[in-house]
Amino acid sequence: MDNCIFCEIIAHKIPAQLIYEDAELIAFNDIHPRAKVHFLIIPKKHLVSLAECTEQEQELLGKMLLLAPKLAKQQGLQHGFKTAINTGRAGGQEVWHLHLHIYGDGV
Ligand code: AMP
Ligand code: ZN
Repeated sequence: MDNCIFCEIIAHKIPAQLIYEDAELIAFNDIHPRAKVHFLIIPKKHLVSLAECTEQEQELLGKMLLLAPKLAKQQGLQHGFKTAINTGRAGGQEVWHLHLHIYGDGV
């Protein structure tokens, strides 16, 4: 997808602090962290937002959620973390490629 900053990160065209990558998903640190640890899990498939997902994405969405606690633990959030998926203009979405925020201070 042209002009999508997250697709460019997936294509390694712009740098990011990657913390995970597999065939379907990638995770990297948020450039403006709102907590001590703050990273994003995104699908490699360009999906605009949660609102555009269909049953076709059921397995992929499940994988994103199940990856969250594993990476959170690895990143030092053993005692819990927050998750967010901002959806649409009124939901505060700024980057139009589906992403799951995981963040916390690890305390
Ligand atoms: P939102 O669309 O509001 O859920 O949030 C988009 C998030 O992407 C924000 O927290 C940004 O700080 C983050 N972000 C934007 N550009 C980059 C980038 N190049 N690398 C890492 N994170 C980014
Ligand atoms: Zn994209």
